[in-house]
Formats: sequence, C-alpha cells, structure tokens
Amino acid sequence: MVSEDAVIIRLLKFLLSHPWCDPLLRRISPVAGFRILTFHRVLPDETQPGDYRLLLGNPTAAQFESLIVELTRRFHIRPLSELVDRAPSWDGEFALGISFDDGYADVARIAAPILLRHGVPFTVFLTTAFLDGEIPWFSRLFAFAHSADLRADSLWLPEGVRWDENSPSSLRTSLARYLNRMDTKRIHEMLDELETRNPWYRPPTDLRNLEAFMTWDDVRRLQCSPLVTWGSHTVTHPNVTALEPLRLEEELRLSRHRIEHETGRECDLIAYPGGYYESRIAGAVRDAGYRAGFVMREGINRRVLDPYAIRRHYVPTDLPGALLKVYGLSRQRPR
Ligand SMILES: [Zn+2]
Repeated sequence: MVSEDAVIIRLLKFLLSHPWCDPLLRRISPVAGFRILTFHRVLPDETQPGDYRLLLGNPTAAQFESLIVELTRRFHIRPLSELVDRAPSWDGEFALGISFDDGYADVARIAAPILLRHGVPFTVFLTTAFLDGEIPWFSRLFAFAHSADLRADSLWLPEGVRWDENSPSSLRTSLARYLNRMDTKRIHEMLDELETRNPWYRPPTDLRNLEAFMTWDDVRRLQCSPLVTWGSHTVTHPNVTALEPLRLEEELRLSRHRIEHETGRECDLIAYPGGYYESRIAGAVRDAGYRAGFVMREGINRRVLDPYAIRRHYVPTDLPGALLKVYGLSRQRPR
C-alpha cells in the first residue's frame, strides 16, 4: 500500500527531473526571503557504500556538483554576509546561501573547486582546535557507533542511554544527546571510559585520515578567491548553551581571534555547534564580536528578528530530494 504522500513526492520528483516543468516550479518557488543550506563534507566518488561518512548524510562529489549546477540554474546564491546585511528588512527575491561546518579537508579539496568553478560564494565555519590537530569528539563517537564489531549483547553504555538495537544511528544520536550536555574535556573523558569498558572495540587506526581537517595553509590558499569567507564554529565544538559563562566567552572569543590571526580577515559570523542556541546567550555572542549567529532549523528566513538565530538546514543527498527541500515541499529529515 503506497501512501498518498509517497505518490505526491514521487510525482514532484518526476517534475523536478524534467526541465520542461521549470515554468510550473517557478510558480511555486518561494518569492521572498532566504534559505541557507548546510553541509559538513563532500566525499570522494569512490567512497564505499556503507561507509559511515555516507550514512551521516554527506554527499559525494558527483552528487554535490549536480546539486550546485541545478541550484545555480534555478536560484540566486548570495554570500552569507550579504544575506545577513539584508536580513532585518528583506526586500527582494528569494535567495540561497551555502555553508559548511567544522572545516574538513575535503571542503578545500573537493567542494571548493566545484563551487569556484560554478562561481558560487560560500562560508566555512571553522572549529579552530580541529585545524590545530584535535580529533573531534563526535568523530570518535561516530566511529564507535558505526563499528563493524558493535554487538548489543556485550555493549556497555552510560546509565540512561537508550537505543534501538537494530539501528546504529539511534545509538549515535542518543549518545550524542547524552554527551552534548557536557563540556568538551568531559566528553573526551566519557569517550575514554566508553572505549575502556567496551574492550571488544578497536578505534580505527586511520581515524585521523578518515576525519582529516584543513590546515591553516589550505585556509589561506582558499581565501585568494573573493567567493570564500570564514566564520567561527567555536574552538572545541561544545554545545554552547551548556557552558559556564567564562567557558562560553572563551570559546566565542578565542576562536574568532585565532581565525582573524591566521587569515588577516575579520570574522564576525558564528554557527553554533550542533545548532544549539538559546536567546539568553545572544548578549555573550554579540560582546565577543559577532554580528550574526546561525542555528540549525529548517525554513526560509523572512523577517529576521534575532540576528543571532538565523536559520540553516541540511538537504538530502539525492538531487530531487534536495530540490524538494529548497522549494519547501518536504519536511526536515532527522539526522
Ligand atoms: Zn559542527
């Protein structure tokens, strides 16, 4: 039995794949406001199916390029700084922004050449400790939750962490939720404990390679293009709403200073790690020198009341699914 929704989605996907339907799609396109798309990585085309980095929803180079080609054909893609400037009183046509979080090496090596080839502006939100060599806590978590040796009957988990034993992604999300209540140092201690108490688990020896980050030289090389801008994604990628005021101030201020020192450019945009944000921290973000902040929430930004809570969201990796999302015809998929 196929649901009505599934039939409509199939019909829309069919329409999206045929250029002669463009006039119809133009009629249903959003007319005003802006939408910002978020990515983390763009993987090599030869990445093996089943690789956890694909399961996390990252596109391959071919998927990403076909999306960029379609987006440039259908919409105006503008730099994030311009969208932020115009946000309080958006007056024009619908526009898109493109952003990346964390600062993975494949953004410099795979995504950037594609975007520059098509003349598309983009912003990369850098987590400065990752560029300085720290392995992200969530990389350790992903590798653990998607380990080929994962066996529910011999698994030790912290008290209160529940998951569906048939779904490693549910283990990943419940552990991430549990860990996101803590500061980064404590998270790494918890992951040490998780690894010790699950002696069957062997962390991948090539984790640093699987989770490679840009170098500051990559950053400087890329910024030769006026299409590239940088933002902060904090120093160590904590949930900023869970930090003590002094630690919050440190994460906000030191990351901005580090990026400005390395690039020689002003850095006044921030994307909150994990999208965690509460309006009570807006003052701290402003005092640390930022003029706008980005949350993880689906939707079009029309009248932006809080410049520290501008919406961004993911799109699916398949082209019709991604276009449906940009046209506002499908809901956020959990990830
Ligand atoms: Zn992030």
